[in-house]
Amino acid sequence: MQCSVCGAEAEDLTSGDFDGLVVRCKRCGEYEVADGALNAFLRLDYDARVAALEKAREAAAGDRPTVRADDLS
Ligand SMILES: [Zn+2]
Repeated sequence: MQCSVCGAEAEDLTSGDFDGLVVRCKRCGEYEVADGALNAFLRLDYDARVAALEKAREAAAGDRPTVRADDLS
């Protein structure tokens, strides 16, 4: 798959345990995008996607970050 943030080749770690996309990217690391946020997330430009991921990463405090719809506003 392609990374949803940077477009680089990435690994799809999505499992049934999580309602959304789980990605491992060499550039962006591991992250999740919740189902409810995915469409809006993919419509953002690159800088905005990076910013949303950074915001999720701060909120996760060391855990795998999850981009949620709330992070996109
Ligand atoms: Zn990436």
